[in-house]
Amino acid sequence: MQTDEGPIRCPQCGQQVPRETQYVTWCDKCEWNVDPTGPTEQVPAWRQQLDHRLAATLYAELERGAIQRPGWDAARIAAYALSAGLLLLPLAGLLGGIAMLVFYRPLWLSALLSVIPLGLALTLRPRANCLPPDTRLVYRQQAPLLFALLDKIAAAVGTKPVSAVALDAAPNLYYTRVGWRFMPVVGIGLPLWAALRPQERVAVLAHELGHGKNGDTRHGWVVGSAMTILDELEETFSEQPLDEYRQELIYATEANTGPSVITRLVNATVGGAVRAVKWLLTRIDLRSGQRAEYLADRRAAEIAGSEETARALEKLVLSETSYRALERAVRFGSDVEPLQAVTRAIGQVPAREIDRRLRVSRLRDTRIDATHPPTNLRAKLIRTKPAASALVVLGTDESRAIDRELAGPAEAVLTELRSELR
Ligand SMILES: [Zn+2]
Ligand SMILES: [Zn+2]
Repeated sequence: MQTDEGPIRCPQCGQQVPRETQYVTWCDKCEWNVDPTGPTEQVPAWRQQLDHRLAATLYAELERGAIQRPGWDAARIAAYALSAGLLLLPLAGLLGGIAMLVFYRPLWLSALLSVIPLGLALTLRPRANCLPPDTRLVYRQQAPLLFALLDKIAAAVGTKPVSAVALDAAPNLYYTRVGWRFMPVVGIGLPLWAALRPQERVAVLAHELGHGKNGDTRHGWVVGSAMTILDELEETFSEQPLDEYRQELIYATEANTGPSVITRLVNATVGGAVRAVKWLLTRIDLRSGQRAEYLADRRAAEIAGSEETARALEKLVLSETSYRALERAVRFGSDVEPLQAVTRAIGQVPAREIDRRLRVSRLRDTRIDATHPPTNLRAKLIRTKPAASALVVLGTDESRAIDRELAGPAEAVLTELRSELR
């Protein structure tokens, strides 16, 4: 424990910096010790430079206002085209199998042979989105105030009203479309929800519904389905545990290693091609995905107000902290409700610590393969645009009333978390 509570001198530039006991002691002038743990994975310097440059060009593009119409940029069109090509594979399998059954005789042989293309079609078929099993669904009649708010935001954004809200214990909010009827669902992670102030809640919800308006979920489903096909193919054409087992069996019996060579050859060529396409699709899609995040932020600022949206984004650097606070409250119990404990813990984080984490986000998250652009750039972009005032406003009392509506299902989520942590 530190006994001296006074400030210390930064060992790098000599500036006086406050000594922290609960948080990291760092220098805001030269950024000494700003990121004491460092990034989890080491990226080579050239990759870092390239990623920084790509992040900077994307940011500059948006700051200039070069992108007016969301949804159709070159990266997105390329991702769609590539995915559509892949989605033809199961269709080709299905048509091939049917053609075989119709035109090929004798029937017993064609039935036998059609198993291959039909099996391919079945394995690679696109699937409807579904929600993780540990979510609690909340419907309109259970939470009229929450849905009234969501309807207001959806109308302002210009997207379909939400069918259900999915509650869970993750420090995250999301938007998705579920099932073959593509029902719009907003996912609310309780710890992050508890950490947000009323108008910040509006901002985050508007961001998520903005994804619905910009067609990001449709895009996500098409690319996701193509990715599933690539995953299946990769699994088929890569070294399997079974392959190794077979190999050992071959060695053990000293039999001919012929089939193994063929397997390896196919794995190397087809498997290699599959991996290359997957790499390409991931890269293109991430570029377009980061742009989509900026555009959803822009829409959120128009609806919830610029300043509140920027502040909500900055709060995202405390997502993990909110989850840990919830975990602590659930595990050890406290004098207040677990979610109130989260609100309190987040309220106690000093502005200086948030500033430090934002700087860390700039240092670490510029990677173009991160799903979201760096938080500090997202907030900065909102602040550089002319300030917008809020179209949808959520008062403190209204926000509390929404929490009361969610109390029942939230308790169920917390009970599940409690049993998981045990
Ligand atoms: Zn310093
Ligand atoms: Zn988003």
